[in-house]
Amino acid sequence: MNIIVQKFGGTSVSTKENRAKVIEKIIAKKNEGNQLVVVVSAMGRKGDPYSTDTLLESIDLRLIDQKELDLLISFGEVISSITLANEISKLGYKTEVLTGKDIGIITNDNFGSADVIDFDSLNIEKGLKEDKIIVVAGFQGATIDGDVTTLGRGGSDITAALLGGYLAAEYVEIYTDVDGIMTADPRIVKDAQVLREMSYSEVHQLAEDGAKVIHPRAIELAQRFDVPIFIKNTHSNSKGTYIEEINTKNTGSELLLDSDKIMTAITYKKERVQVKIYEEDSNTINRLMKDLVRSDISLDLINFFKDYKVFTIDEDDRDKFMDLVKSYNFDYDITSNCCKISCIGNKMRGVPGVMANIFEALSVNEIDILQTSDSYNTIWCLINEKDLEKALMVLHTRFKLNE
Ligand code: ADP
Ligand code: MG
Repeated sequence: MNIIVQKFGGTSVSTKENRAKVIEKIIAKKNEGNQLVVVVSAMGRKGDPYSTDTLLESIDLRLIDQKELDLLISFGEVISSITLANEISKLGYKTEVLTGKDIGIITNDNFGSADVIDFDSLNIEKGLKEDKIIVVAGFQGATIDGDVTTLGRGGSDITAALLGGYLAAEYVEIYTDVDGIMTADPRIVKDAQVLREMSYSEVHQLAEDGAKVIHPRAIELAQRFDVPIFIKNTHSNSKGTYIEEINTKNTGSELLLDSDKIMTAITYKKERVQVKIYEEDSNTINRLMKDLVRSDISLDLINFFKDYKVFTIDEDDRDKFMDLVKSYNFDYDITSNCCKISCIGNKMRGVPGVMANIFEALSVNEIDILQTSDSYNTIWCLINEKDLEKALMVLHTRFKLNE
């Protein structure tokens, strides 16, 4: 029998009415004769009774250590899985609820954002053999010593991809509140279109660069295990986005895109800070780089020139950086409130003039480009955050993503 993994995000399981739609999706697959593993997130968003944010607000964060905090927030998914399983059982189906710890997701002890290091699927396979619908509390695992850990925001996607991979599932379905992966964040770009098919590498880049629709680690796992992923809407019957290895030399999404569309999607990351350091001495720069690593400050958009070095850091690391740089004598500039825009598409590889086109589109609209960089499937532009919405819309239209 085929195993299918379905994952339902927070808004999908937030109310009884929404869960009724979730259950429809589950039962439809079960009745087709599949073995079902369902992964759930905590119910709802900030303000809803058992959401992750509500649990976080229920305690004094200054008086709790990270280990206890992980234990606390892991219950959001536990409550959600028990509630959903209970409602499925009412319809006469056998269910079993398993936590991350129950299914042997072993992680390191990086509480709050733990990495999975091992997995043992025995408990799930036993339940599946007994014809049960397995409902798994997403977002969590446990250390080798048995302490509960969480995998970071969006971590239920990781649980789903991990299970899909290890159980050799036919595919993984990630259900959320939009019709699939779109050409841009639909909350900002109103005429964003659903992409029917994408390659792992494009989705990975999109997720890595800020589109929160799926966790980048989930895509890495799916690619490693070669398990396809669908992104679908809990509230509709749309076909969603199908993500798989698209094995063409020069193209990423040729199956869905017109030949004149070389860009697949645009995304953005806010709260970037650009740093320029005016220093030529390599020993000083070496010392700085080591200090940055030691302070756990990660750099992005790095460009080194002989007389100055430029890179970006996260707004959250700004104070740490300002502290660290006090012990240096060089001059430097800091530009806060920046935003990194990522133009993604496997088809852009080797196509001349894409950067020129981006530059022209932004400059005629009086949007300053602070820095650019590119890779085989992405062009990044650092801009001022005030220009974000305009820039997204301008590029989206210029590259015909709205058509
Ligand atoms: P869930 O709780 O189901 O995991 P998320 O909030 O994590 O849902 O992800 C879904 C959201 O991702 C959407 O509501 C949408 O606003 C946002 N999003 C950002 N960029 C994109 C994109 N390119 N395509 C689709 N959704 C996007
Ligand atoms: Mg999510």
